[in-house]
Amino acid sequence: MKPRRAAAPSRKRAPDAFPDPHHDHDACVGRALADADAICARRGERLTTLRRRVLELVWGSHQPVGAYALLERMREHGRSPAPPTVYRALDFLRAQGLVHRIESLNAFVGCDSPERPHAVQFMICRGCRTAVELHDEGIARAIGAAAGAAGFAVQSRVVELAGLCRECAALSDPASGASPAPA
Ligand SMILES: [Zn+2]
Ligand SMILES: [Zn+2]
Ligand SMILES: [Zn+2]
Repeated sequence: MKPRRAAAPSRKRAPDAFPDPHHDHDACVGRALADADAICARRGERLTTLRRRVLELVWGSHQPVGAYALLERMREHGRSPAPPTVYRALDFLRAQGLVHRIESLNAFVGCDSPERPHAVQFMICRGCRTAVELHDEGIARAIGAAAGAAGFAVQSRVVELAGLCRECAALSDPASGASPAPA
């Protein structure tokens, strides 16, 4: 089967930011770990072997993974850290902005731009379970303004959108999913 060619990304955040199923995911993992090394070094934080390993496992795919599944994977790889150790590692990674928690799935996914804190909107595909970040400041501002007008102090602005990515939409309805992206 010939991999479908994705439209050339002309902007950093194309509307179809979902990873191509045939992309080089090892490159994603390598970049995430290198970013984490650099960020922790710059902040004087210790990316211990365990924390780095947990981050690597969270980055095992673009699908959010739960803490229990992470523990299982660590066991498969011959390590059986106590669950609280792994939870603490996840807390550290979240505090450093290296992973996000997806509340609706009670699961974690690697952040693709962890350099600074950001408002995030997740697009979560119900077909392939892939989660992709949007960083739309307009949405974040609108939430802040609307909540502020209601006298509500927002502490978390993570928005979770459930739906279908282009690939999965095409699979479930070939007629609607086959239209090419505008150039
Ligand atoms: Zn990838
Ligand atoms: Zn992020
Ligand atoms: Zn999908």
